[in-house]
Amino acid sequence: AKPVVAIVGRPNVGKSTIFNRVIGDRLAIVEDKPGVTRDRIYGSGEWNGKTFSIIDTGGIEIDGVDHILRSIRVQAELAIEEADVIVFMCEAKSGVTQSDEEVAQILFRSGKPVILAVNKVDNMRRMDDIYEFYSLGFGDPVPISGSHGTGIGDLLDEVVKNL
Ligand code: GDP
Ligand code: MG
Repeated sequence: AKPVVAIVGRPNVGKSTIFNRVIGDRLAIVEDKPGVTRDRIYGSGEWNGKTFSIIDTGGIEIDGVDHILRSIRVQAELAIEEADVIVFMCEAKSGVTQSDEEVAQILFRSGKPVILAVNKVDNMRRMDDIYEFYSLGFGDPVPISGSHGTGIGDLLDEVVKNL
């Protein structure tokens, strides 16, 4: 089976935007499991000759889980189970939030390789905003912009190094 990459993070950081850029038109349709809606969130990606499956965890809908923080937590746990590499996505405009810190703790405990991506770095003026993300403890944050498509190659370089 292909290795699995999961994109994890709180709502609105740009997970689906990046997912769509990575898969292009390689969307995979997967049967839903009881209680969990997962179709439309699996795709495949390819970079430097390596292929992988990729999951947009923000699209996972879990029956009965409507509280945002609980829902992010459950999504992160599902991703950890399935993933070989996790892309932990945050965004530069808001800086580090409490939800980011919660997700960081769950991911840290997993022991799986985590690549920290900071989205919405739309211009060089925003580069100063990425330094605070070192505090999450996952090393160098990779600045990306889903709007402009910048930095995604650098992100995928880091991802495939860990596959
Ligand atoms: P998700 O909830 O994490 O899946 O986030 P989405 O991909 O749905 O994006 C949330 C919002 O952020 C949308 O309005 C996107 O258009 C916007 N967005 C995504 N990437 C960027 C980016 O690089 N820069 C800016 N300025 N906005 C972005
Ligand atoms: Mg989404």
